Amino acid sequence: MNEFDRLVDGYHRFRQDRFTRQNALYRDLAETGQSPRVMVIACCDSRADPAMIFDTAPGEIFVVRNVANLVPPYAPSDDYHGTSAALEFAVTGLGVAHILVLGHARCGGIAASLSGDGRGTFIGRWMSILEDTRRGVRDSTEGDAQPRALELAGVGKSLENLMTFPFVAELVREERLQLHGGYFDIATGILNLRDPSSGEFTSVLDGAPAFT
Ligand SMILES: [Zn+2]
Repeated sequence: MNEFDRLVDGYHRFRQDRFTRQNALYRDLAETGQSPRVMVIACCDSRADPAMIFDTAPGEIFVVRNVANLVPPYAPSDDYHGTSAALEFAVTGLGVAHILVLGHARCGGIAASLSGDGRGTFIGRWMSILEDTRRGVRDSTEGDAQPRALELAGVGKSLENLMTFPFVAELVREERLQLHGGYFDIATGILNLRDPSSGEFTSVLDGAPAFT
């Protein structure tokens, strides 16, 4: 069985198991439409799937995934803006009450950004969203600690960029929308949340600082 056959095999398991158990929910969602209250902005990385990490039901979270879970700054133009389009729909169409930017450990996009790879590529251009942040981390952090430092700082930068979207900033001011930062450590499975005032991340398991 090759990888793709395994995928279709997985579909059959889903159809028989989860879909059967949640058949009424799927039918209801099909008829009434989706109304998720939470948007998650996550990385494409195959190890950091928000639906799996948060054990969510269908219809519960609206997810956009891109390289390194980045939010670009608000910059309307004739270019194609996939993440901004998803954000616009989540906020102005679905009216989500929460947006979580979910970073993760061992992020390939972050590693590429630090190594300077990807000039002239789509990834290089995309990671330039973190150009200033990367420079700051490089100046302040030892080499080995830079990937994690930039993964964490990148979440902060994306939260900052979210506030450059007028429809986000307005709802946050009116306290109808809350922004959150998170970080999933793949090897330990520990989820960390970002304190909005200090920018520090702590584990949701025991509230202890997750990193030294
Ligand atoms: Zn990643």
